[in-house]
Amino acid sequence: MAIVGGSAAGLFTASLLARKGRAVRVFERAERLDPVTRTLIVTSRMRRLLGPVGERAIVNQINRFELFTDGRAAMIPLQDPDLIIERSQLIRGLAREAQDYGARLELGRRFVSLQSKGPGLELAFERAGGSSCEHVTAEAAVGADGARSSVARAAGWPQQATVPLLQALVDLPDGMPSDSVRVWFLPDDTPYFYWLIPESDRRAVLGLIGVDGQETRRCLDRFMEQRHFRPFGYQGARIPVYSRWVPVERKVGGGRVFLVGDAAGQVKVSTVGGIVTGFRGALGVSEAILQDGPSPELRALRRELDLHLLIRRSLHRFCQADYSHLVDGINGAMRRSLGRVSRDEAARVLWHVCRSQPRLLLTGLRGLLTRNPLASREQE
Ligand SMILES: Cc1cc2nc3c(=O)[nH]c(=O)nc-3n(C[C@H](O)[C@H](O)[C@H](O)COP(=O)(O)OP(=O)(O)OC[C@H]3O[C@@H](n4cnc5c(N)ncnc54)[C@H](O)[C@@H]3O)c2cc1C
Repeated sequence: MAIVGGSAAGLFTASLLARKGRAVRVFERAERLDPVTRTLIVTSRMRRLLGPVGERAIVNQINRFELFTDGRAAMIPLQDPDLIIERSQLIRGLAREAQDYGARLELGRRFVSLQSKGPGLELAFERAGGSSCEHVTAEAAVGADGARSSVARAAGWPQQATVPLLQALVDLPDGMPSDSVRVWFLPDDTPYFYWLIPESDRRAVLGLIGVDGQETRRCLDRFMEQRHFRPFGYQGARIPVYSRWVPVERKVGGGRVFLVGDAAGQVKVSTVGGIVTGFRGALGVSEAILQDGPSPELRALRRELDLHLLIRRSLHRFCQADYSHLVDGINGAMRRSLGRVSRDEAARVLWHVCRSQPRLLLTGLRGLLTRNPLASREQE
């Protein structure tokens, strides 16, 4: 089994397959396992999926969300804390675990092509510096090579749309508790939102998801200037926008090719978080490979991602008045019920919102009935 991409989704897939006795090689283009540092927020579902290897990457815990829009504020206490993780520690831990189970990590191998060979596949990798090419045969390959996956392109999947995500490293403002996340809805700047996520009692990341890369940077700089934040570094990349389920398997001749994580667009488009859903994709693909049949985990993940798409489609057309109404609407009952569910359970989030605030349903429906709001905003 050849896995292309030695990051979160690829290494977890490698670990799941290797622990069941499969011979696994992970091909990563970077010459050293030195992943970029990034501060990420995930739900506690990560704990259940990863166990101890996830635990070691946790740097902080979040007990409440504070929401702001147009001078209004609302607070949602979380019954089950969210986790702040440091990406490079997580990836190093996953790499160690996969290797302990017997997977081989091959660094400095950039995937360039694949073709059918006999009953399986032949993959070509460029060695570091472009000095030579290595050919590898495998019965199956897994593309875990991120949003602009070369494996997906080589096997004939269509290219996916992406959005820019940018965050600045800043000092935590005086008086802000380190177990709170702040979220601002400013629909004139972005159809998504701004966040301030503490990684410790001194440092935080302040960011947004945008539509256009340069405009996203301008918005972040203006936001920081107005609120007197001083950036001392930036983290950013383009993230896939889930617009429909991407079938995770294709045949190339007699060989099987799978996609996991960002390569398969397994990102919750309501909040553009891809860590937990990428791990669920890895679990699903490993189930499909090991049992040689349909995976219940992939079916459940598809339902979950489709529900997040429904939420995003309705939010994408929200104007300032709608956000004001939303934040005003987070009354006692809704606050308590929202705090009990996690962002990785979209159906329960929707149910609680509709039950406590039926008027919000109408606002959301208006967004849904507007013709393909997600696509049109992305092209603007
Ligand atoms: C700044 C930032 C903040 C984020 N915050 C959050 C958050 O708070 N919560 C959350 O859930 N998600 C967050 N995300 C999204 C999340 O990081 C991604 O969804 C997740 O990391 C995707 O993991 P992946 O393993 O699928 O892909 P990637 O992490 O993109 O890994 C792809 C790997 O493939 C390798 N590769 C690429 N091409 C080749 C090739 N041709 N040959 C060999 N190797 C190759 C790359 O070097 C890389 O190691 C954030 C993203 C960014 C950029």
